[in-house]
Amino acid sequence: MKAKIILFDIDGTLIKAGSAGTRSLNMAIEKLFGVKNICDTFSLQGCTDKTNFESAFINACGKKPSKKDIENITAEYLRLLPSQVSKSVKKGIYKKVKGINKLLSLLSKQKDVFIGLGTGNIKDGAFLKLKPSGLLKFFSFGGYGCDCHIRSNVLIKGVKRAEKLTGEKFAPKNVYIIGDTHKDIIAAKEAGYHSGIVFDGFGDKKLIMKNSPELIADDFSNLTPWLIWLGLKRDPKGIRRGTYVCPDTPIEHAHFGMTGMDLGDAELRLKKLRKIKNNK
Ligand SMILES: [Mg+2]
Repeated sequence: MKAKIILFDIDGTLIKAGSAGTRSLNMAIEKLFGVKNICDTFSLQGCTDKTNFESAFINACGKKPSKKDIENITAEYLRLLPSQVSKSVKKGIYKKVKGINKLLSLLSKQKDVFIGLGTGNIKDGAFLKLKPSGLLKFFSFGGYGCDCHIRSNVLIKGVKRAEKLTGEKFAPKNVYIIGDTHKDIIAAKEAGYHSGIVFDGFGDKKLIMKNSPELIADDFSNLTPWLIWLGLKRDPKGIRRGTYVCPDTPIEHAHFGMTGMDLGDAELRLKKLRKIKNNK
């Protein structure tokens, strides 16, 4: 078996930190520039922290930030984040996504499977957010929001770090991205990686459907579709990979093996695809 990498997004995929990040950025901007609730003026969903810090500065100050401005925001954000994460924990609004412990424990015991982070959070912020979950022990590498503005490059950086760490070379077809927004899907596709989505995260459901990830599941409470998608479990109906529409992707397993995918929507897409092809 060829070695695989699975990169996990954090917010909405591993944990829900009860808006600790948003509160910290709001407070940082208010302290530095006197503007309240800056995060109400733009969408943070699925963006890298680098992009969010820039948007916050532009909306607060009406000009592009300098390197020093971003450094100041980052420092203030990181100073505030631990107390805001603790606040979420105390209020009981810091939550782990259902079934994630079971999935990560199982994956960490698999031979030739490497699990890492693929997140828009800056590295220090990622660790601060994950700390109360106890999930940090599963991750030894990742791509982070401080690596680049562009999410696909963050993922590519994560894979490069894994290659350095393991001495393995990973073909894109052996890289799996798990996230909760359409931006995770777009980034995965841009990099040529597989994309699986946690539907019960923070993503816009219509945008998720529109961007067609290979797998959609509410959370990890049922591991079967995830394991089939990852090629770690045989389809219960014995269907082999590559039999159907997208050779070399596991989408057909989940659709045709009836393992929890949205069959109706898949059929609709196939119908449209056939129509487009026939009209050519
Ligand atoms: Mg997310």
